[in-house]
Amino acid sequence: MDSSMITIALSKGRIFEETLPLLAAAGIVPSENPDSSRKLIIGTNRPDVRLLIIRATDVPTYVQHGAADLGVAGKDVLIEHGGDGLYQPVDLNIAKCRMMVATPIGFDYAAAVRRGARLSVATKYVKTARLFFAGKGVHIDLIKLYGSMELAPLVGLSDVIVDLVSTGSTLKANNLVAVESIMEISSRLVVNEAAMKLKHDRIQPIIQAFKTAAAG
Ligand code: ATP
Ligand code: MG
Repeated sequence: MDSSMITIALSKGRIFEETLPLLAAAGIVPSENPDSSRKLIIGTNRPDVRLLIIRATDVPTYVQHGAADLGVAGKDVLIEHGGDGLYQPVDLNIAKCRMMVATPIGFDYAAAVRRGARLSVATKYVKTARLFFAGKGVHIDLIKLYGSMELAPLVGLSDVIVDLVSTGSTLKANNLVAVESIMEISSRLVVNEAAMKLKHDRIQPIIQAFKTAAAG
């Protein structure tokens, strides 16, 4: 671990955009836009702070292993990862959405659950889905997907999906409807446990700035 540098892992898109004001509150301004630059390591106005631009699901892995000191990751991603080796000191209240069960319009989900029917569930959130349905006493066949879950019930791959929903417009465009809410989702600041001790003097002010900005 390079102890002179603070490395922050972020994913492109909504998390990068919504983290910008929090970084600014900590006095950190990226020197490039990851959408146009194609660079995976981005410098900042601070010579001792750099950003890694990676897939959302990879953020906890980089931070767990100390390849990044800090990161921003959705609760959805953190549950699937498990959170080993990570402190989660701040709920940033960004990238908010909801983990939901959705079905094709016309599928009687409540009746299937009441009957004790076996449900096939397509999702990339296998851990979340397994825990949720086990808690309801519903037996499921899990089908692991990596994206575009909405397609699965339309072509008979599954009865239902477990996916993130914000406006519901993607569900609607595909004749699906949300039938049950699993949990509220937002993104958290995650910190490598060793870095928290070894780089405490420099990491603590960043955590504090994020905390204050997220609450405000
Ligand atoms: P990709 O879209 O590249 O396959 P991804 O879906 O994991 O990857 P994003 O779509 O950028 O990446 O989502 C990143 C995080 O933002 C998710 O882990 C989740 O916490 C949150 N998120 C996802 N979808 C929404 C949404 N519709 N509204 C708000 N937040 C969302
Ligand atoms: Mg996405």
